[in-house]
Amino acid sequence: MVQRTLAIVKPDAVAAGNTGNIIGLIEKNGFRILAMRMQHLKRAEAEGFYAVHKGKGFFEELIEFMTEGPVVLLALEREDAVAKWREVMGATDPAKAAEGTIRKLYGTNIGRNASHGSDSVENAATEVAWFFRGSELS
Ligand code: GDP
Repeated sequence: MVQRTLAIVKPDAVAAGNTGNIIGLIEKNGFRILAMRMQHLKRAEAEGFYAVHKGKGFFEELIEFMTEGPVVLLALEREDAVAKWREVMGATDPAKAAEGTIRKLYGTNIGRNASHGSDSVENAATEVAWFFRGSELS
């Protein structure tokens, strides 16, 4: 089934100059980019986006990280987009990610792991809507 998902090039990957490499992998893997924007997230935006993780030990570190510099937000579409994008990204911890995945190639550790991807079709719809208005999705 054709699905949408939200991808984020995280601040570590943007700062390291890996935005283009990651967008290249997005296109190489057959995703259509419906919308894309660079944005320096405000604390409230990051906290709202990651609200599900509030209360976890790493929450503050995650918010600090996600607001330390600009990110690139992308709404993507493809057959089976949610699972496929998570496959292209690799495991949360770059040390455990498969060869050739984004997190293996460009991640540093479990926190600074280069990219985000929605983890379910339901969450993908919420996350795309968190950052993009319907009229921005081409
Ligand atoms: P994801 O769906 O693979 O991104 O992983 P999660 O939903 O479990 O976590 C969301 C994000 O929080 C991850 O991508 C990491 O950036 C961060 N994170 C998760 N676990 C840890 C952790 O144990 N320590 C730190 N510092 N950050 C974490």
